[in-house]
Amino acid sequence: MNPKLIIATHNFGKLKELGALLSELDLDITSSGKLSLVDVEETGLTFVENALLKARSACQQTGCAALGDDSGLEVDALQGAPGIYSSRYAGANASDQDNIDKLLETLADVPHALRTARFRCTLVVLRHGEDPAPLICEGKWEGHIALAPKGNNGFGYDPVFLPHDAIGSAAQLSGEQKSTLSHRALALQQLKNRLRRFLSHTA
Ligand code: IMP
Repeated sequence: MNPKLIIATHNFGKLKELGALLSELDLDITSSGKLSLVDVEETGLTFVENALLKARSACQQTGCAALGDDSGLEVDALQGAPGIYSSRYAGANASDQDNIDKLLETLADVPHALRTARFRCTLVVLRHGEDPAPLICEGKWEGHIALAPKGNNGFGYDPVFLPHDAIGSAAQLSGEQKSTLSHRALALQQLKNRLRRFLSHTA
């Protein structure tokens, strides 16, 4: 029987992306959304803590191994903000546009050379609710914050993120290009290399 893995997300887009990338590992994958599990509050102060909280909650509710994730944008001139608060930077129900507007306004007087930033993605897998040695995979994508938005692809801060390893903004990349370069792609690549072995060892 294939090992079972719950992806701790209620976002079907994320489930599809993660499920597709992990499909060659022969795992029995489902999600907390599909199982109608209770969503956990992201009360951690780091990406790792939040990813761990999501994974642990799904493990405890199902008794199965679970994967939690967290991601966000870290801007050097803002001492790492918005960081774990990226999706709610401009307020609890902020839209992507509200968050971008707030970021550009906050950085209005910061010159290009000092607008360095990175996206981070952390993935955490627990084999059970009390697993003392989680698998942690992290990816980062370095770039600069643009002076104005450009491009219509992607989501979140993509229109104002200028990756160092591409021309233009992340929102000007095709989905295929982004999925080879991004923080999420790098974290997933690590996960793919390590997950099967991790699940076959008992904690
Ligand atoms: P979460 O990982 O779903 O909690 O997302 C955190 C937030 O970080 C998102 O709502 C976006 O604002 C931002 N973010 C994370 N990854 C990306 C990305 O690939 N592009 C643009 N924004 C991102």
